[in-house]
Amino acid sequence: MRRHMTNEGQCPVCGLEEETTLHALRDCLDVQNVWNRLLPGLNDSNFFLMDIELWISWNLRTGAGDYSREDWPILFVTAADILWMRRNKIVFEQSFLSTTACLKLIEERVGAIQESLKKNDYVSVEMNHSRGALIRWRNPPQNWIKVNSDGSFNPETGTAACGGVLRDCYGTFMCAYAMRLGSCSIMQGELWGILQGARLAVSRGFVNIIIEADSLCAIRFLHYGIPRTHPSAALVSSIKNTLSNCNVIFNHAFREANKVADMLSKHGHEVEGEMKIFEVVPDFLSLYLFYDSVAVPLERGM
Ligand SMILES: [Zn+2]
Repeated sequence: MRRHMTNEGQCPVCGLEEETTLHALRDCLDVQNVWNRLLPGLNDSNFFLMDIELWISWNLRTGAGDYSREDWPILFVTAADILWMRRNKIVFEQSFLSTTACLKLIEERVGAIQESLKKNDYVSVEMNHSRGALIRWRNPPQNWIKVNSDGSFNPETGTAACGGVLRDCYGTFMCAYAMRLGSCSIMQGELWGILQGARLAVSRGFVNIIIEADSLCAIRFLHYGIPRTHPSAALVSSIKNTLSNCNVIFNHAFREANKVADMLSKHGHEVEGEMKIFEVVPDFLSLYLFYDSVAVPLERGM
């Protein structure tokens, strides 16, 4: 269950226990406090006793009728997301969001999602790039697979990492990858992610491939070409060569629709040696894969 994301493996919030996904999202005393204030009475239910898979599926489905709030699934996913963001702020930015601030953010975002659901205005990524648009990951069409890829850059060390995930038309996880790249630019990190995803897809025999990344610049290079003298030109042509026998669509995704790849690219910093390939869902991804599969819309920019 260890995520190997903090140096000691200890919870960065309480410092008392090893930080598993469940600890970070539910069991840390500080986090329990948020859940209990969000929905009083949770302590008397099985909420804090379930294992992670049951916990997620219960709260996304059955839980709705069992708790007193009808909007629980949306509230649950939103709260988990914000609790995770808070955890990352502590780890990466050394800043702490109070319980009250956390609760306020959760209620605000749930309100915004419900407004949008009422109006039924799922705005597609391609059509609306403005702030406030709802962003969600979408399944590829039948007979296609989708590679979501991302690069991650650590400004302190000047090193990059990349990672990504392959999913089919039902949104089913096929495999994921993460890799440390050493010192290179942000753009090269993004393109390495795409190249590794493309190689993996081709090596598994896929021919209809959608490649999605949140770097608009990288996607533009792949669409429109790149100057020969550009430091990333070789990577762009490697990607093109790798995919030369495939049907390929290069797609720009918003960060919010690319979270699974984002998590993997961050994980890449901790991968030793060669690229790591995940054939089963790693623990730290489960929540975000669930997110995408239930297509809960996230409000852009929050
Ligand atoms: Zn803790």
